[in-house]
Amino acid sequence: MQKTLKKISELYWRYYWMVIKEVRLILGDQLYVRHSWFEKVNPEVLYLMMEVRSETDYVSHHIQKVIAFFAAMRAFSAHLSAKGHRILYLGLDDPRNQQSFGENLKWVLEENPEAAWAYQSPDEYRLDQLFLELSSQLGVSSRSVDSEHFLCEREAVKDFFVGKKQYLLESFYRHLRKQTGLLMQGSKPLGGKWNFDAENRQKYDGQVPLPPTVKLANQVDELLEMVRNAGVQTIGSIDNNQLEWPIDRVQSLKLLEHFCKYGLPHFGSYQDAMTEDDPFLFHSRLSFALNVKILHPREVLNRVVQEWEDRPDQISLAQVEGFVRQILGWREYIRGIYWAEMPAYSESNELGHKLSLPSWFWNAKTRMRCLSQSIEQSLEYAYAHHIQRLMVTGNFALLAGIAPAEVDRWYLGIYIDAIEWVELPNTRGMSQFADGGLLATKPYVSSANYLRKMGHYCEKCPYDAKSRHGMLACPFNSLYWDFHDRHREKLSRNPRIGMVYRTWDKMNSDERAAIRKRAVWIKEHLEEL
Ligand code: FAD
Repeated sequence: MQKTLKKISELYWRYYWMVIKEVRLILGDQLYVRHSWFEKVNPEVLYLMMEVRSETDYVSHHIQKVIAFFAAMRAFSAHLSAKGHRILYLGLDDPRNQQSFGENLKWVLEENPEAAWAYQSPDEYRLDQLFLELSSQLGVSSRSVDSEHFLCEREAVKDFFVGKKQYLLESFYRHLRKQTGLLMQGSKPLGGKWNFDAENRQKYDGQVPLPPTVKLANQVDELLEMVRNAGVQTIGSIDNNQLEWPIDRVQSLKLLEHFCKYGLPHFGSYQDAMTEDDPFLFHSRLSFALNVKILHPREVLNRVVQEWEDRPDQISLAQVEGFVRQILGWREYIRGIYWAEMPAYSESNELGHKLSLPSWFWNAKTRMRCLSQSIEQSLEYAYAHHIQRLMVTGNFALLAGIAPAEVDRWYLGIYIDAIEWVELPNTRGMSQFADGGLLATKPYVSSANYLRKMGHYCEKCPYDAKSRHGMLACPFNSLYWDFHDRHREKLSRNPRIGMVYRTWDKMNSDERAAIRKRAVWIKEHLEEL
């Protein structure tokens, strides 16, 4: 016994004094435990993680987002330590913390003069640029490695669509299905179809029970106190100081299992539905765990396909294909667009929109039921599902003519999963048509008709979903026609929109004038809606 203790003590001191040869930076969204960096413990490597103001302050984030990042980072650091890796973790309130990647790195490298530094390729353009600059400024040799998370290379979309004016999801998605063999039978799609979209557009009327709540309840009093004491500006709320987002693999896998059991059997059917009964419906809520890389997309896809194979009588192919399309298709495609188009993409504003977001985007105080509910839910949970983001808040911002930069900042701040590489193409491209149709074949806009068809908001709304003008007419209606009218030159040549213009042109001129008048009033009185 005595001998063993002596040996452990010797090893400890040898390890402790071992000179650091490489400092490896791990970002808050690089929490992938199976990364090859962590396969072996190397005492000459120091892992560096930090909570810094440059990240908490570049936009006003939702309080749950800031806390979820820090809680997940701390859990990851504890995991690495327990495995025997050397790690330096700088908390937000650590007196040594200089609150930026560059300053902290400089200090750590000065402390370890024999060390080079290394980083995993970041997913954000601004950090990619920063690390390139630091690599040349710090005067220390550096190298970058892959984050080993995505299914495609950064350049995959750019290379695939070379010479094309539009990047079509469908062709990229089919290419990835073939490449990965997911839901394939040889070179043919399983079930004979690539796409079951037509079966995926049901309204939710309580036909099937909603999934039970999954409780994660991470108590985060200390983190909250630290963030509040530091004066970080945040938005939204957190109930009872409990975080209901997964911060480690155990919790993320619990959420994945919950989704497979309850969400997947109805995912496709109700993915576009909107209801006030439940903020999550049959959605997975996996975006945070995926975006910070706690989960790997491939393991999520494999697990979901496995569940479908195990329960063929309870889960149809349409449900699982709908989900595979989101992760294999949309997620990889969106990332590829980001890297193909940055940095110009972040400045795009094809329609020249200039208005400011009304203040009720931050407090949900509008009478429009769809917007008040979707915003209130976002402030409460840091979450809204895709159709709420696209066809409620995004639809309104686009129809009203809000400046895309403002829309971006709102989306980048409020959602738990918002990281620029995925937020920006979704907001600028898909939602705001600011790229002029590189991503979306036509603007995702609708009048109240669509909202009535896919949800129940209109039933409880003081505005009349069927009227186009008059003070009680739903603002979406006049704004919808006004949007097409004012962008006629850019949009009317699009064959997918031709019908809208034919209907508008057939309306009598008094009707058109009344619609225009109502739209002008709305745009001048956004705060009062
Ligand atoms: P589910 O509906 O269960 O879908 C499963 C997974 O598919 C998601 O977790 C996500 O990883 C992936 N996925 C689905 N749609 C997309 C998409 N369009 N782009 C990329 N991945 C997708 N997603 C983010 O992760 N971060 C964002 O900042 C973000 N901003 C958005 C902004 C706007 C204006 C719009 C219209 C969409 C945005 N999305 C964003 C995409 C999508 O809304 C979210 O991924 C989804 O709502 C997350 O919830 P979930 O995990 O329950 O998703």
